[in-house]
Amino acid sequence: MAGDDEILVIGGGVIGVCSAYYLAEAGCPVRLIEKGEICSGASWGNAGFVCPSHSVPMPAPGVLLQAIKWMSDPKSPFYIKPRLDPTLLSWLLRFASACTQTCVDRAMPVLHDLGRASLELHERLAEGLGATFGFRRNGLLMLYGQADAFHSGAQVARRLSEMGVRTEILRPRDLHDRLGDLRCAAVGGVNYPDDGHLDPGEFVQAVARAACDRGAVVQSSAEVLGWETSGRTVTKVRTTRGDFQPRQIVLAAGAWCPSLAQVLDIKLPIQAAKGYSVSFRRPRNCPDVPMLLGETRVAVTPLADTLRLGGTLELAGMDLSVNRPRVDAILEAAKSFLPGLEETELLEVWRGLRPCTPDGLPIIGRCEAFENLIVASGHGTLGVSLGPITGKLVSQIALGQTPTLDTAPLRPDRFS
Ligand SMILES: Cc1cc2nc3c(=O)[nH]c(=O)nc-3n(C[C@H](O)[C@H](O)[C@H](O)COP(=O)(O)OP(=O)(O)OC[C@H]3O[C@@H](n4cnc5c(N)ncnc54)[C@H](O)[C@@H]3O)c2cc1C
Repeated sequence: MAGDDEILVIGGGVIGVCSAYYLAEAGCPVRLIEKGEICSGASWGNAGFVCPSHSVPMPAPGVLLQAIKWMSDPKSPFYIKPRLDPTLLSWLLRFASACTQTCVDRAMPVLHDLGRASLELHERLAEGLGATFGFRRNGLLMLYGQADAFHSGAQVARRLSEMGVRTEILRPRDLHDRLGDLRCAAVGGVNYPDDGHLDPGEFVQAVARAACDRGAVVQSSAEVLGWETSGRTVTKVRTTRGDFQPRQIVLAAGAWCPSLAQVLDIKLPIQAAKGYSVSFRRPRNCPDVPMLLGETRVAVTPLADTLRLGGTLELAGMDLSVNRPRVDAILEAAKSFLPGLEETELLEVWRGLRPCTPDGLPIIGRCEAFENLIVASGHGTLGVSLGPITGKLVSQIALGQTPTLDTAPLRPDRFS
């Protein structure tokens, strides 16, 4: 039996490794266990945006109507696999009830504060760990093909600028100046000059190495199988690599959290939302700035040697199969403005499961039911962006310090 005074972090994605890093940096004995390889979940092939500009939660007015329209289109960026699953139904009801302006007004400052604090930590990590993961802060360009989408995008930008986010509204001529010979049919765009991007796989590996350098033990191929409890304490964690008796536990297993927590009778309303990415060898006319193509929601990320396209949100449970028409839709959206992409070498088609909460906010905090269990999950489309601040908050909670940001809106028990 190992680890009586350790903090055990479960999950080797961006949230788990950032938690282990800040715990180790604070001098705690910490062990991270991962059932596969480090960064084999959603944190691997995503778009790598570090984007405080994304402070509008996923549930928002108009989203439901748009989602219903998209449901019947096999190439749309959104899909729900029809099934009689009570956890999905209850998640959808909660999601629907969060699609109000009041909920958005409550969630936006929370996401904005998390995003800004995380961006600062990303900068420090990039400086401190050596720039091995290509962190760059050269903005994020939202492009819109239709006037009404541009209008809504500009409205969001105005709201964000009232909150202190720098924004630039761009007309077609400005876009032409910025994008040069890229074929761009956009009627307008918004640039968020302070946003950044990075290679998410390289980032997670670098943070995991840095956690080890600070004394953390990082163990792959170690899967949690079950728990033992006594009163309000989790006393033992059973894994494929033996049993652990940690002092505290951080559950950071992404979309797998609900099934692990359920065994402890804790209900975490997290749905897996599958997304895809396609990586190409970096083409000659590769854009320099990351972009999000407004209506199709396709993300375009230039990385060191590759160009990555990402998108689609499918609520299909834990199913990791590849839905080819949706991958093709991502490619079509990108080809329409990146001439010659079809001649570029395709390196990887990837899919990952985003852990999504129905109110669009992550879950970070101690569980009421078990005083030594901290949950850090539910980051949806923002896990890379919010990884460092999540890790920092987890370390402060574990150490009994007052967190630097108010974590009350992120409590695991807010749904009960
Ligand atoms: C197409 C796409 C594009 C995206 N783009 C962006 C973006 O641009 N910016 C951004 O911020 N976010 C983006 N995201 C979201 C981001 O990828 C996720 O929010 C983030 O990766 C979640 O991290 P995580 O550590 O919680 O989960 P994961 O990375 O999934 O890690 C969880 C880990 O837990 C492990 N695990 C599960 N069960 C067990 C067990 N029983 N025992 C031990 N280990 C276990 C898993 O193997 C996994 O490695 C995107 C996602 C997708 C799919």
